[in-house]
Amino acid sequence: MSFKIINGWLQNVKQVISPFYNERPQDQPISLLVIHNISLPPNQYGGPYVEQLFTGKLDPNADPYFATIYQLQVSSHLFIRRDGEIIQFVPFDKRAWHAGKSQFNGQENCNDFSIGIELEGCDTEDFTELQYQQLATITLLLQQYYPIVNITGHSDIAPQRKTDPGPCFDWQYYNQLINQKKQTNLIFLQLKQIEDEMQRIKLWQMTPPHADAFLSKEPFAIDTMEANEWLQWIFIPRMRALIDASANLPQGFALHPYFEEAFKEQHYEIDRLLQLIKQLDDLSAIND
Ligand SMILES: [Zn+2]
Repeated sequence: MSFKIINGWLQNVKQVISPFYNERPQDQPISLLVIHNISLPPNQYGGPYVEQLFTGKLDPNADPYFATIYQLQVSSHLFIRRDGEIIQFVPFDKRAWHAGKSQFNGQENCNDFSIGIELEGCDTEDFTELQYQQLATITLLLQQYYPIVNITGHSDIAPQRKTDPGPCFDWQYYNQLINQKKQTNLIFLQLKQIEDEMQRIKLWQMTPPHADAFLSKEPFAIDTMEANEWLQWIFIPRMRALIDASANLPQGFALHPYFEEAFKEQHYEIDRLLQLIKQLDDLSAIND
């Protein structure tokens, strides 16, 4: 799913406005992302209680534990449920109250310069694949809009008081997903540039080759298609289908040597296209 942010609000997600926020100090850029976990009652999922806590509406009688926390004035920017649903409570440009007394790299009061994301979960259970996928997507999006340079856990900025997101949060997998999605975004843009360039030099065809040509079992369909036909009608559509399906992309491929050879006799101006294909090869290798 692709998201965008307008006026500090993520579009197309549930918005529940919290009263627990204020202005950020001026001249302090949003440079930190803080990952948390929360579940209410502890270790129970799916209920309305986190939303109620972050909006000051938690009923102290609904659970014995709630009597100890219902008066807290706390919030986060985002809450990601086990099924991947995202709820936003505070616009990103405002200061949510998620970190409490805290310090990152010697800088105190992390709420001033951070965005807080709560994952529905606890310290003793794995988070869900849907949560990791959403979190990684949102992380990349936030990095496009805000000058975020670090990502940390609540326990790292308030080590005496906090243990979340806890030992079950898989930082390595999270980082791997971020890199994968970054690569996918770049490849998506590169394919578009290749298409545009092929249009420009009139190598982009209006009608596909004969259906039989698609039955080739050879690499690059070398026995039935021209190099540019294979690129337009087989390679690019396949890559786009994988991207649409959020599937893993082939890694470390090398198209450039074949195209350099195939275009040797071309009368088109193919230098720029070859350069774009080389860049695509390079992008496919960054997560090897
Ligand atoms: Zn926390």
